[in-house]
Amino acid sequence: MAKEDPITLVIGAGIVGLACAYYLHVQGRSVCVIHDAPLDETASCGNAGAIAMAEIIPLAGPGTLLKAPKWLLDPTGPLSIRAGYTLKLWPWFWRFVKAGTPANRRALTQAMATLLKTAFEDHQTVLDASKLNHLLNKQGSLFVYRNERGRRADRASWDLRRDCGLEFKALDRAGVLAYEPALGPLAHCGYRVEDWAHYRDPGELVLGLAAYLKSQGVMFEVGQVKQILVENNKPTGVQLVGGKINPCAHVVVAAGAWSAELSNPLGDYVPLETERGYNTTLENPGVEVKSFVTYAQDQFVMTAMQMGLRIGGAVELAGLDAPPNYNRSKELLRLAKKYVPDLNTDGGTVWMGHRPSTPDSVPVISPSQNVKNVYYAFGHGHLGLTGSMTTGRLIADLMAGKTPGIDLSPFYVGRFAHPYHIGRF
Ligand SMILES: Cc1cc2nc3c(=O)[nH]c(=O)nc-3n(C[C@H](O)[C@H](O)[C@H](O)COP(=O)(O)OP(=O)(O)OC[C@H]3O[C@@H](n4cnc5c(N)ncnc54)[C@H](O)[C@@H]3O)c2cc1C
Repeated sequence: MAKEDPITLVIGAGIVGLACAYYLHVQGRSVCVIHDAPLDETASCGNAGAIAMAEIIPLAGPGTLLKAPKWLLDPTGPLSIRAGYTLKLWPWFWRFVKAGTPANRRALTQAMATLLKTAFEDHQTVLDASKLNHLLNKQGSLFVYRNERGRRADRASWDLRRDCGLEFKALDRAGVLAYEPALGPLAHCGYRVEDWAHYRDPGELVLGLAAYLKSQGVMFEVGQVKQILVENNKPTGVQLVGGKINPCAHVVVAAGAWSAELSNPLGDYVPLETERGYNTTLENPGVEVKSFVTYAQDQFVMTAMQMGLRIGGAVELAGLDAPPNYNRSKELLRLAKKYVPDLNTDGGTVWMGHRPSTPDSVPVISPSQNVKNVYYAFGHGHLGLTGSMTTGRLIADLMAGKTPGIDLSPFYVGRFAHPYHIGRF
């Protein structure tokens, strides 16, 4: 490589890091992706696979807060906090509560709607280039409710989606069964969203995209970044655990749930949490489910993948190091069997992954406040696959000094302010 060709280092080889690498490479940069976990062991590989353009509502809000106590009392309910973790959660939790006011919820929903508006197009661009189109399944999505009361309770969220330009169709039981005949007696009513697709295997997407990038000259290195080295307010390189220094001129932090460990020392404070999620992939489910199905009242989803039916969900707040509790995966299977009585729940592969979550459910897509040429692309929570390609495009635009097509202020890293300062969130 020519001496004057400075390296742009992307930290993280999950789908967000790979998307950034793609768009930065297209811009003509010398890109190196550094990652500390095997490519097929990231959250990006085991998730539910959705390009979920309708999921624009932040998690925080009166509904979640009212239901949380009941969920927390159930040891295998959709939300759990591990004993001993409550105090650590506080900096994230009080901002989460603040994000849930009606005005904040509306603004955050609008921000996500704007971000995800081009999600599908941006995925398509990358899939066309990398010839991975065959992984995409455009079967739309079905939201299922057990009763009218459950659907009514979610009405404000659907109204908000409509206000943001999302199109959907209300269905009675016959309408639901017309799309998914395998759904049993619990499926009372629902909504159909056409603007939605899912991957047949998100792991194959990650591996395929990484292979494509390598074939185009993007470098990959295995190593754990300990810190970003800064001189005269610019990065000079990164230091790896073990001491090795990798020189670089530009850095993109796309390290998923671990990203704040790299941004906080630069004075870019982000109260990032991991929302741990679980699933089981059934190789022989014994039923046919075609679209992406969300069981709205029971907080789990079902995706038809090429290797079987994936059933997952749950939010566990327990930090990055606690061992997985796969009873949560089993509980989701038990629930799924209630909806789909013919489901064969024998066998299956269990999985747990870390959703990198900000308290306001909006990712950080931003330059550093303090260090020139350092950029952040993390915190996508439940929507990291959905927002990945758009994030990569926006980061490349920011780095090229181009005005991005959307207002990026809701995604600015400075919105959290200092840990002890009461900022906007
Ligand atoms: C059960 C479940 C279902 C989900 N379903 C969906 C869905 O249907 N649709 C959707 O859009 N999203 C979904 N998500 C969310 C999505 O999986 C995540 O938001 C997304 O994978 C995050 O991608 P990422 O690239 O930011 O992080 P990750 O995939 O976690 O990758 C992080 C990368 O950073 C590297 N890294 C971390 N620290 C360092 C360091 N110090 N040095 C070097 N490398 C480092 C790791 O090695 C890894 O390569 C789901 C998540 C879960 C848990």
